[in-house]
Amino acid sequence: MKNSPSGSADGHVTVVGAGIVGTCSALYLQRQGFDVTLVDRDGPGEGASSGNAGSLGVASIPPGSMPGLIWKLPGMMTDPLTPLAVDRLYMLRSMPWFMRFMWNSRRAKVERIADARNALLSRIFEGYQPLIDDAGAEDLIAHQGKLHVYERADGLARSAYALEMRRRRGVEVREMNGDEAREMEPALSPIIKGAAFFPGVHTVLNPLRLVQDFAEHFVRRGGTLLREAVRGFEIGADGPSRMITDAGGHDVDKVVIAAGAWSKTLAKQMGSNPPLEAERGYHNMITDPGIKIGTSITSNERYVVLTQMEHGLRVSGIAQFSGLHSEPDYALADRVLENARVVVPSLEGKVDSKWSGPRPSLPDSLPIIGPSPRYPKVYFAFGHDHVGLAAGGITGKLIGELVAGRPTSVDLTPYRADRF
Ligand SMILES: Cc1cc2nc3c(=O)[nH]c(=O)nc-3n(C[C@H](O)[C@H](O)[C@H](O)COP(=O)(O)OP(=O)(O)OC[C@H]3O[C@@H](n4cnc5c(N)ncnc54)[C@H](O)[C@@H]3O)c2cc1C
Repeated sequence: MKNSPSGSADGHVTVVGAGIVGTCSALYLQRQGFDVTLVDRDGPGEGASSGNAGSLGVASIPPGSMPGLIWKLPGMMTDPLTPLAVDRLYMLRSMPWFMRFMWNSRRAKVERIADARNALLSRIFEGYQPLIDDAGAEDLIAHQGKLHVYERADGLARSAYALEMRRRRGVEVREMNGDEAREMEPALSPIIKGAAFFPGVHTVLNPLRLVQDFAEHFVRRGGTLLREAVRGFEIGADGPSRMITDAGGHDVDKVVIAAGAWSKTLAKQMGSNPPLEAERGYHNMITDPGIKIGTSITSNERYVVLTQMEHGLRVSGIAQFSGLHSEPDYALADRVLENARVVVPSLEGKVDSKWSGPRPSLPDSLPIIGPSPRYPKVYFAFGHDHVGLAAGGITGKLIGELVAGRPTSVDLTPYRADRF
């Protein structure tokens, strides 16, 4: 990598995907001095980044695959209460992914994954604050904490390992009984027997607007935003030389693949075959829900999340494995709502909109952030599963540093592409 005498990097970088990860990467590349083109077939943030639950989750350290999962998973695949929905036809195709996922539930591995997740999640604001300040987006961040609620009397005890895993890594956790939880959130049902409050978890009040504000700032700073679908790349001896889109083609120098759940095909063209699955989630938006909540609420047994957004209450959940190109099944959004109404019975109001989008998920609950093993001018930034909003800012910072040839703020070894 060549750096200019002033210390700022020069050259051109093309970032594919204007979700939260690609947009933050584009902004940090600009800050490093690169000329940057950000390309997305839709508007910025319109993939998974638009519909998430808004949580800047320092507490999301436990990976998806935890000790004991191997015994629970078969039941989860059939129990309508759980968030897991596996399409029967797709089950066979996703089996290798699930085998790897379960293999990662060994305690020693879980601890290593938790460290690597924490290395990103403990730096949420290190990544975001400069971007939020630059874009003037502070009004989108609510510092209100997150409440995990339990219906089972032994819920907290059963979560002891996951809670302790967070505490050991510096996350503040306040355990409370059902009455204390209802004092905090009066809308909670009497069936709630206990809760864990995470005061350090903050909320983005409109994740789509956050990406849009960032993208506008990127353009104001001289970045090029293209609304084109990338079909592939012409590959020369040194790697990609031209990007082919539905609108024609563009010469490329350095390339960052940040296309969320759609990254696999593009990564394949770059010589990698990451085991990336689309883990589809759903939400309902209710403008007039008849309740007011002061913190984001997650039901530990029903895996639904209630978040007060700037434009209404968002009720989200579900992890559906049915392939990236399957049609959404909005009955699953209804299931999310039914479960939320058990936790917060006074939740009413008409659903204004339903949404579905794919989390980009790898079986070890860690993203790929790093250079392509094959082409030195290609970089990967995808696979952030349930924490892409939280980790988007710091991922962008790391990509900026990496492409500029500078030491990275976090050791990137756990996120390398060739670990699979
Ligand atoms: C219901 C739900 C709740 C969630 N809650 C949270 C939460 O509370 N906190 C949290 O941290 N995370 C949460 N997540 C996860 C988070 O939303 C994702 O991890 C994150 O949005 C991924 O961002 P991304 O930029 O990698 O992908 P995306 O936002 O999906 O962006 C990828 C972009 O690439 C573009 N693209 C793809 N292929 C091409 C192509 N060939 N050409 C051009 N453009 C292309 C797409 O149009 C898209 O805009 C949630 C997810 C869901 C579904």
